[in-house]
Amino acid sequence: MALEFLANPVSEGIAIGEAFHYIPYTPVVEEGTVCETLVEQTILEYVHARDAAKKELDQIFTKISESDPDKAKIFTAHIDILFDAAMDEDIRDEITYDFFTPAWAISKVFDKYTKIIGKSKDPLIRERTADMQDVKFRLLRCLEGLEEKNLETLDKPVIVIAGDLLPSDTATLDRTKVLAIVTEVGGATSHSAIIARSYEIPALLGLKDAMSIIPQQGTIIVDAVNGRLIVDPTANDILRYKDLAESFEQKRIQTKQFIGAEPITSDGVHIEVELNIGSADVVELAGSKYTDGVGLFRTEFIYMGKPQLPTEEEQLAIYKKVLLEYGDRPVTIRTLDIGGDKKLDCMELPVEDNPFLGNRALRLCFDKPEVFRTQLRACLRASVFGNLWLMFPMVASMDDIYKAKAALDSARAELDAEEIPYSHTMKVGVMIEIPAIAVIADMVANEVDFVSIGTNDLTQYTTAVDRMNPAVAQYYQSFHPAIFRLMGYVITAFNDAGKSVCVCGELGGDKLAAPVLIGLGMRKLSMGIASVPQIKKILSGLTIPKAEELARTVVKMKTAKEIEAYLKEELEPLF
Ligand code: PEP
Ligand code: MG
Repeated sequence: MALEFLANPVSEGIAIGEAFHYIPYTPVVEEGTVCETLVEQTILEYVHARDAAKKELDQIFTKISESDPDKAKIFTAHIDILFDAAMDEDIRDEITYDFFTPAWAISKVFDKYTKIIGKSKDPLIRERTADMQDVKFRLLRCLEGLEEKNLETLDKPVIVIAGDLLPSDTATLDRTKVLAIVTEVGGATSHSAIIARSYEIPALLGLKDAMSIIPQQGTIIVDAVNGRLIVDPTANDILRYKDLAESFEQKRIQTKQFIGAEPITSDGVHIEVELNIGSADVVELAGSKYTDGVGLFRTEFIYMGKPQLPTEEEQLAIYKKVLLEYGDRPVTIRTLDIGGDKKLDCMELPVEDNPFLGNRALRLCFDKPEVFRTQLRACLRASVFGNLWLMFPMVASMDDIYKAKAALDSARAELDAEEIPYSHTMKVGVMIEIPAIAVIADMVANEVDFVSIGTNDLTQYTTAVDRMNPAVAQYYQSFHPAIFRLMGYVITAFNDAGKSVCVCGELGGDKLAAPVLIGLGMRKLSMGIASVPQIKKILSGLTIPKAEELARTVVKMKTAKEIEAYLKEELEPLF
């Protein structure tokens, strides 16, 4: 019998398909020995595991070498590690003379070499530790005879079920094979949700116990329009949902026709619609045809899923590509915003009790001046190729702004000394994500060229709710009147100072919130490509006086619920 569950739809759409449990492999290895007579057999087990690992790496290499030759090189490097003569000898010795189990021998030897590499003075060598870890995990998994599971190399279309998805999982997933995503953790503004929306993959996040509720390989229906999950659907359910999926697609196709429209209100005011991107790949850059600029380039995604930090040259090539694509239009590059829910393979981050309140984003860049310097140099060098706006995330105080600008000045001084050109008119701005900086927006306006409001973090920090924690998801209220009041204050401060202000958090592309932002005085919104047609469609039916009336009403309302209900009623005819 079919079972139905309610869940939080964070990326609209309907999918019917086979469930695929995604459990990233983490080995548990304990110290152990084998009896002396089994030494030969144990060595054979190790050799077989190594051969199996090599076979997998060969297959991955062949699969991706045509589409992404740079990435493919990583896997050749992994084969080299796997067959490293010194490590191989050490593993065999540990088994032969200390009678260690193959798993313990592999683990010990890999850890020993990883430690040595980690101490190297050369950062390029140090960064190889992530590759070592990767190969170690592969080898141990092969030893256990377990199959590889990741979202990059799926062999058929599936609905991914996971406890949690890291942004690196979602950033590298094969979007042609993932029909939908269901996770136990994560809310509407988690990075997995943001990526799911930009890929137009239906997603239900924050469904408690999803892994035990949904059987592996079972047929399920994800209704991420109404927030429903159906396990073991009947033939009737499937027929009904096929119809619903079709009408949803038709509506999407109709709305999509607005993608090329001018973003203009029905009383003739142009609202700049900019794009949020996370890479310079062709799919992302295709959005350039329909947008007035890039309002947010989340550069951390070019650091993710990589065993090594991207070099200055690599970053320069990526930024240059985006800038050339956009010509005179602004391209807002946000410096590395890592930490919180965003982790890197190529950088070990401290384990913290409260990562969202910890050493993340700009703070981490201050802590790792080399990493920051590389990115600032790459941005400055790229600035000659277009209209680059440089933006710092997670700014809490004027001190942060002074410090970030000082780092930028020293990168400029280096380039001057090396006679490398950069633009002297590049705009420099910050994100408004922390209430402390929002309430001194008037002072900020004297110090920077522009700001962009990050409503995802602004909501998290204003309401004191971890945006990833499903247990408190109900308290994460982006429509809280305090958020609109705070934004109203920032918008007025920047409009009064004659400086640019934008919203690049999820509210910027939200069909209910965007009209209110316009009413508060915002004339620039940045969003994922999936929201562009819908927002342009709404603008075409909206007047500025109507938007102002919405804003006036909303800031006086008492609860988020009340605000959402009011906006739904007022705006429904424009959808
Ligand atoms: C935000 O906080 O609103 C934002 C745009 O940044 P991110 O979602 O990447 O944290
Ligand atoms: Mg943020």
